[in-house]
Amino acid sequence: MNSLLCMHNEKRLPCPSRGRQPEETDPMRKAGRHFLQIPGPSAVPDRILRAISMQTIDHRGPDFADVGQKALKGMKTIFRTDQNVFIFPSSGTGAWEAALVNTMSPGDTVLMYETGHFATLWQKMAKKIGLNPVFIEGDWRGGADPQAIEDALRKDTDHEIKAVCVVHNETSTGSVSPIAEVRAAMDATGHPALLMVDSISGLASVPFEFDAWGVDVCVSGSQKGLMLPPGLSFNAVSDKALEVAKSAKMQRSYWDWLDMVGPNATGYFPYTPGTNLLYGLNEAVDMLHEEGLENVFERHRRHGAATRAAVRAWGLEVLCARQGQESGVLTAVMMPEGHSADAFRATTLAHYDISLGNGLSKVADKVFRIGHLGDFNDLMLMATLSGVEMGLAKAGVPHESGGVQAAMDHLKTHEAVKVAAE
Ligand SMILES: *Cc1c(COP(=O)(O)O)cnc(C)c1O
Repeated sequence: MNSLLCMHNEKRLPCPSRGRQPEETDPMRKAGRHFLQIPGPSAVPDRILRAISMQTIDHRGPDFADVGQKALKGMKTIFRTDQNVFIFPSSGTGAWEAALVNTMSPGDTVLMYETGHFATLWQKMAKKIGLNPVFIEGDWRGGADPQAIEDALRKDTDHEIKAVCVVHNETSTGSVSPIAEVRAAMDATGHPALLMVDSISGLASVPFEFDAWGVDVCVSGSQKGLMLPPGLSFNAVSDKALEVAKSAKMQRSYWDWLDMVGPNATGYFPYTPGTNLLYGLNEAVDMLHEEGLENVFERHRRHGAATRAAVRAWGLEVLCARQGQESGVLTAVMMPEGHSADAFRATTLAHYDISLGNGLSKVADKVFRIGHLGDFNDLMLMATLSGVEMGLAKAGVPHESGGVQAAMDHLKTHEAVKVAAE
């Protein structure tokens, strides 16, 4: 009973009250829902939780083909591609590795752009597995600069660079890179490098067009815009990149796309897939299309704008400083000088049961991140921003009041305009 209460309450820790007498109060008990407002994992909607709770079936039996085929086809509609999609039972980091080991040979040069913490981690991985990453430095306050990428490619007259790797939605900073413009910059040089994009936190929240933008590999994961628990990752792969994989010499086994192609054609996988997460994925894809992807993107964009209105009213600064590149997935907020973002986050968690995202590496303790992604609506945003505003006061962070009011005014004057579902 106690552990059930804890689950209902979405506690992250085992219930500490075992052995307690029934009439004793439990100081750990918190009424109502926990607000998980980190930029992934996002809160999992009940519909998806129910889908995941179905019995695990034989992944080589006749009933599985429909599940597998629906998932593979469904993800093509989310990536917006008629080309190839592969699904791994792993976190997003695994799909980063899959993208690199399937297309590269030992020692190959890859051009990467420092949008923030996640771009830096991908670059470290490239180094670790024996590639030669060239890292264009960035200031963590905006997306990748297409001009800098174009300049680097023009200098590479011997075509040493085999891939350009860009993070679409940089989750550590709340900035979006202009992927179509990066492609245009690459095309302008006539350079043959592949374009690889990390859209782990962008997919299904921020507009993304795999085919129309000429992306060669897109990496994604289940626990952000797709509203699932962590545990599934994805590679969307162009026909060109799949052809490159046939002669790429990095060692690989678990991640090998070419082992997936055969079984995937009939809805199966070369090893045990994340069966229950695939049930959840199929539900998530249905939900996204019921709402309409364009409406999903617009909802995120609008919530991002309302959040920034709140931040401005508080007299605080948004980390993303490039207008038009602010993310609809999350907003990273800079703390006033001399105040700890982590102490503030601990206060809001203790008093208002809301988890906000921490600052990562270079901006550790200097920013906090408000996640406004996934299955999320106006009132959930208002509650989230109320938690932040009350937390700022409780933690003694200098700010103006009125952020919640500013966000509410924004939402009232910018009604969501829905387009007809696809
Ligand atoms: C979450 C995230 C990752 C890491 O994914 P894991 O599932 O934690 O391995 C990588 N890149 C971006 C942009 C992310 O948001």
